[in-house]
Amino acid sequence: MKIEGIILSTVDYKESSNIINIYTEEGKIGIKAIGAKNPKKGLVSTLEIGNILSFNLSEDKMPKILEYNSIFNTYKILEKLDKMEALGLMLDIIFNIDINNNHKNIYNFSKKMILSLNDNDTLKVLSIFMIKILYAYGINPNLKTCNKCNSLNIYTFDSILGGALCKNCSNNLDDNYLNIIKEYYYDKKEISEYIDCDFKELLKVIYSYYNYHFPYDIKLNKYIAITK
Ligand SMILES: [Zn+2]
Repeated sequence: MKIEGIILSTVDYKESSNIINIYTEEGKIGIKAIGAKNPKKGLVSTLEIGNILSFNLSEDKMPKILEYNSIFNTYKILEKLDKMEALGLMLDIIFNIDINNNHKNIYNFSKKMILSLNDNDTLKVLSIFMIKILYAYGINPNLKTCNKCNSLNIYTFDSILGGALCKNCSNNLDDNYLNIIKEYYYDKKEISEYIDCDFKELLKVIYSYYNYHFPYDIKLNKYIAITK
């Protein structure tokens, strides 16, 4: 039976092969790709980071990739630097997902987001991805009550405190993306149906949230150009 996965990283293995980390419905697995660096084998472009494949595995302890088909290939977006950068950041986030999770849901969500990159605003896809994936890390923002006084009359989003604030507790004069973050976090719909906004400004808020709450150093500075 074929399984499907998103290639997260590859490392050299012996002379002509690679070890590939691939994210699947079962979580992250390591597989050997024998002859992956031999161009005659045709594996080279298929096993690039960010590609999505369906494949068969051998029964070895460290399984080898056997037959495979390409579902998504980054060559479609390679010329678009912003899309490649957004994809790189998404893969870094997926790479660190804790083993104890519902990987089937996360896999299907991640795949949908990667496939959306081609035909949608890069920063919109990245924003929705980064907000929704928070639940997989157990760092969900509190978007229902004021994070200082528990008032239900929430008004703004505070990335440092990690959620909503009421008007009394907030220094911000405007709503600062609270409603958009709520929509992106809770709603389930097609990318085009989510409200648009100034995504560069929104991503600054999201990056700040990650800086204060994300449990791993995913080197957001590398991706800061996206928000400039
Ligand atoms: Zn308050």
